[in-house]
Amino acid sequence: MSNCADKGIKTRCVHAGRREGDVFGTMHDPIYMTSNYRLPSDGSPVDWAGIHTNIYARNGNVNQFSLQDKLAAIEGAEACVVMGSGVAALSGIFLTFLKSGDHVVCSQVCYSAVGIMFRTLLPNKFNIEASMIDSTDLEAVKAAIKPNTKLIHIETPGNPTTGISDIAAIAKLAKEAGALLSVDGTFASPLLQNPLALGADLSMHSMTKYINGHGDALGGCVLGKTALIDKIKEQAMVNFGGIISPFNAWLIGRGLITLPLRMRQHSQTAQQVAEFLEQSPAVRFVYYPGLKSHPQHEVAKRQMNGGYSGMISFDIKGGEAARMKFLNALKLISHAVSLGDAESLIVFPDSASPHKMQFYPEVFRQGYYRFSVGLEDAEDIIADLDQAFKACGLR
Ligand SMILES: *Cc1c(COP(=O)(O)O)cnc(C)c1O
Repeated sequence: MSNCADKGIKTRCVHAGRREGDVFGTMHDPIYMTSNYRLPSDGSPVDWAGIHTNIYARNGNVNQFSLQDKLAAIEGAEACVVMGSGVAALSGIFLTFLKSGDHVVCSQVCYSAVGIMFRTLLPNKFNIEASMIDSTDLEAVKAAIKPNTKLIHIETPGNPTTGISDIAAIAKLAKEAGALLSVDGTFASPLLQNPLALGADLSMHSMTKYINGHGDALGGCVLGKTALIDKIKEQAMVNFGGIISPFNAWLIGRGLITLPLRMRQHSQTAQQVAEFLEQSPAVRFVYYPGLKSHPQHEVAKRQMNGGYSGMISFDIKGGEAARMKFLNALKLISHAVSLGDAESLIVFPDSASPHKMQFYPEVFRQGYYRFSVGLEDAEDIIADLDQAFKACGLR
C-alpha cells in the first residue's frame, strides 16, 4: 500500500489506500464481509477494545482502513476515521471531545442534526452548553467564546445558505481560546477546500454526498492529527458503535477515484446555472459562492481552490402559490433530498420547520430552494429550469 504522498491529488484519488498483496493479484481490494477475525493462536494478550488489532469488525475492518488511508492521503492529514454516516462522524466529534460543563460555539446555519444536538439533546442530556452564532461574522464568533469553550464547530459552505466562514481567522480565535476547531466541509468536498491546511484541528465530511458521489451509500469521515483521531476511534467507533459497513466503505472508495473530475464539472456547471438564474426575471435571489454578488465571495475566493462546488440556493418570484408547482414542473431535475450526486436534486428543505429560517439571511425567510447541480449537461439543466419557469407563468 502506498499513500502517494509525493504525487498530485488526482493520482492520490486513484491510487492511495489500495492494499496490495492479494493472493489473486487483483487490481482492486476485495470486499471483506467479515464480522470477526481469527485470534492469535499463541495465546498472546488481546486488547479487546483496541483499534490497532484485527479482532472484530467494530474495532475496524479492512475496507475501512483502505478508505481511511485514501482520504488521509487526499487531505494530507496524519489520520482519518470513517464512520457509518456524516451524523455519526459529527456526534463522534462531539461525544469524544465534550463533557458536562463544556461550552461550544457553533454555526447557526448548520446541518439539521447538529442544530438538534446543540440546541436540545446535548444541553438537556449532558449539560453541554452551545452558542449558535453567525460564523460568517468573525466578531460574532469572538464574542461567543467563553472560558469553558472547548470546541468551535463551523460549517462552510453552510447548508443550506452556502454562507462562507473564514476558516483561517476562526482557527486563530480557537487557538487563542485553547479550543478545538472542527470544520464540516461537506459542501466543498476535500477537493475544493483544505481546512487542516488553514489551521483547523478536525476536518469532517458527510461522505454520503460528493465524496461518494453516486447516491448509494451513507458514510462520514473525520481527519486530523493521530492523537485526536485515535480518540474518536476508541470512543465513538468502538464504544459508541458508529462503525461503517465494509461494503459502504468499498463503494465510497470507488466513488472517490473520480472526485477531482466530478468536482471540476459540478463547479463549472453550477457556475453556468447560477449565472443563468441571476439574470432570469423569474428569480427572486440566488446565492452561489462563485458569484460576485455572494456576500462572502471574497473569502470563498481565498479559501476555496479550483471551484465553488455544485450547491446553489435560490428562490423564484411566484411565492408560496408557485412553490410546489415549480418543483412538479421540473422534468430532468429531481425533487429529492441529499446532494452531491450525479443527478440534479432540488428541495425546499425547511418547509416543515420554518422556525429555522430565522437563522438565515433576510432574503431566505420568504422561502428558497436548495439545488444540488448534477453532472448532466448545463444546457439541459438550464432548459429544464427555464421550461418550469414558463409553466409557472414566471416568464
Ligand atoms: C448531509 C450532511 C450531513 C449529514 O450526513 P449524513 O451522511 O446524512 O449523516 C452533515 N453535514 C452536512 C453539511 C450535510 O450536508
